[in-house]
Amino acid sequence: MLNLNIANVGEGLKKSDSIAQPAELDLDKTEEFHYPLHIAFSVEKIGRNIFVDSEIRTKVDFLCDRCGELFNQHMTESARLIYTYDGDMANKEEDDVYVISESTTIIDVSEPIRQTLLVAVPQKKVCRRECKGLCDRCGANLNVESCNCHTDSMDPRWEALRNLIK
Ligand SMILES: [Zn+2]
Ligand SMILES: [Zn+2]
Repeated sequence: MLNLNIANVGEGLKKSDSIAQPAELDLDKTEEFHYPLHIAFSVEKIGRNIFVDSEIRTKVDFLCDRCGELFNQHMTESARLIYTYDGDMANKEEDDVYVISESTTIIDVSEPIRQTLLVAVPQKKVCRRECKGLCDRCGANLNVESCNCHTDSMDPRWEALRNLIK
């Protein structure tokens, strides 16, 4: 659980930093999130709304789609959440608007932060632009070794020879 104390939020910008573990945001079962999450909050109360801007920095583990190797990289994501005392505001179909009561002093930002991170995981993960991937014939990781599958298959005589060896 990741809570933000809004008891003393007055007019003007209030900044605070938090460190959360993936388990606190229910992210520990994911493939990607195993490192601490550094979250910088900027909270501002304007009228009957509290604007929470968050910037989340962490490191993520990805499996490369090309070579299958694990790699990690930095991720920085931001999320703007709006908490309002005004029920009508939430009906304007704004994405991240949550209604709170006048007596609310602690808000739980776990779920929106969790969603922000999950959505940020790219569909395609490649360890580096020049990743050569795996050979589609022998499965060799072409980043660390080379194989002869593609060069000698050009020549049918070699193909015949290889069939003899098998
Ligand atoms: Zn790769
Ligand atoms: Zn090969």
